[in-house]
Amino acid sequence: MTLFDLSNLILFLVSIISGIFVYLSGRNKQVNKKWFLFSMVAGIWALTLFGVTTASDSEVAMRIQYVLDVCAVFIPVLYLSFTYAFLKIKNTALMVVLYITSFFLALFSFTPYFKIGVTEIFDFFWVSPGKYYIISPLYFSLVIGYAICLLIYETYFNKVVSDERRLQVKYQLLATLVGFIGGATTFFPQLFNVFPVGNYFTSLYIVFVTYGIYKHALFNVKIIAAEFLAFFMTFVLFIRVALSQSRNDFLINSFVFITFLILGTLLIRSVLKEIENREKGERLARYLANANARLREIDKQKTDFVSIASHQLRSPIAAIKGYASLIVDGSYGNVPEKLQEPLHRVLESGQRIAIMVDDFLNITRIEQGRMTYNMVPQNICTLIETVIGELRVVAEEKGLTLAMSCDNKENYLVKVDEGKMKQIFSNLIDNSIKYTQEGSITVSISTLDPEHKVLVKIKDTGIGIAPEEIQNLFQKFNRASNANEANVLGTGLGLYIAREIMKAHQGWINVESEGVGKGSTFTVELPVCDEEPAQYVQKK
Ligand code: ADP
Repeated sequence: MTLFDLSNLILFLVSIISGIFVYLSGRNKQVNKKWFLFSMVAGIWALTLFGVTTASDSEVAMRIQYVLDVCAVFIPVLYLSFTYAFLKIKNTALMVVLYITSFFLALFSFTPYFKIGVTEIFDFFWVSPGKYYIISPLYFSLVIGYAICLLIYETYFNKVVSDERRLQVKYQLLATLVGFIGGATTFFPQLFNVFPVGNYFTSLYIVFVTYGIYKHALFNVKIIAAEFLAFFMTFVLFIRVALSQSRNDFLINSFVFITFLILGTLLIRSVLKEIENREKGERLARYLANANARLREIDKQKTDFVSIASHQLRSPIAAIKGYASLIVDGSYGNVPEKLQEPLHRVLESGQRIAIMVDDFLNITRIEQGRMTYNMVPQNICTLIETVIGELRVVAEEKGLTLAMSCDNKENYLVKVDEGKMKQIFSNLIDNSIKYTQEGSITVSISTLDPEHKVLVKIKDTGIGIAPEEIQNLFQKFNRASNANEANVLGTGLGLYIAREIMKAHQGWINVESEGVGKGSTFTVELPVCDEEPAQYVQKK
């Protein structure tokens, strides 16, 4: 046997094996089916080429050559069909035209216009071309050339292809170039009287495809390995059945063979299922990761927008507040009685918007991680006393008593950002005043000794909170339903900001209520600070 014959036999075997395994790998059914058909026909083509070149006489060679030519005219269209499926392109009209053309070419190959027989050339039989034989290599070059162009476009020019996919297509392209340029040299003897040197390379395309399988998941290697094992074992066991010496031997071998056949099938199925599930999981994970990234991006854009908008609002609001307060104070002359009430409203509304804008800004700072804290040891009792001093008038205007108890003032040292702490307690006590129609608000400060914590409780006799709504109150824009019913204005941002700021102080804030109409108690916990307060340090 010559090297040429051997290469054809190898191509035959590799094509058939690759076709079967890929077909059964079950990953992308459409692509696998096309690859299977192509490999089968390419395999038969290689076998017939082997048959022709090793035939004992020209008559046998001629008969085999008929089969060879039929396979040869179908190879381009089958390969294009695989390429289409591989690249997920649909062009049914062109495929129909090409299949019909191939069919007529196959019929044409039986006429003397296509071939006049076989002759001996380079020591083997080879086709002797007819008058219009040239149609066949032209057709081959056009269709395969087109498939190669598609692969080149996908590898180098298609912008929307992922890098991983690009590599897969690249290996397919390399395999195609090596395989088909090599294969095309089988036209050389009949056209140019040149030995078909490239045919040695045809089976090399399998090397590239195999490399693609291992390196870039062109096809599924795990399932192929499982199938290979199962087929190999089944084949060996079958041979053993065939070679059985006695009846007993035959029975035992058949039993082992059938058992393995069933087990092998189950094995392949389970591997298929596992791969399918894993791929589903991977797809889902990829989808979720994309969606997540997109959401984060949108969220960031929203935060940026709120931040810019709030900054822009600050100065006009400050102007409104400032001028309104100057007018109310009489800086521009006496204000007529009739204007007093509307002007107070302007001032109040201005203050409300200013607080709201500050809340928005605080939220964007928290979300962007830009909130800065100037932590200084403070006496929490003194801090809360100041806040209560500012709010006492508001409570008294509503007829509410606002009391504070602090048993051992010296013990309540905490390390906090003074401005932000005041903002939190002001918001909490203001809420208690807002959401209480009659009764009292009591602020009590004590310690949770074993845990080394300061505990501030703000208890009111107001509208209370329904148990099912309590936990949601600390989320952004969340307001209890009875807050709206009580017709008290608010944004639902204060408690969210308070909890975030508390977290930054290693503290916590929570609320308890026995239910609607039964009052609420907000509890703030802060770690006790062992350092001395700033003013004492300075005095020393
Ligand atoms: P706002 O008061 O602007 O709505 P907050 O975040 O400060 O926003 O409060 C969130 C919600 O918690 C309020 O809308 C209200 O439903 C409830 N809430 C807060 N404080 C009290 C309180 N002292 N009594 C009853 N409900 C309260």
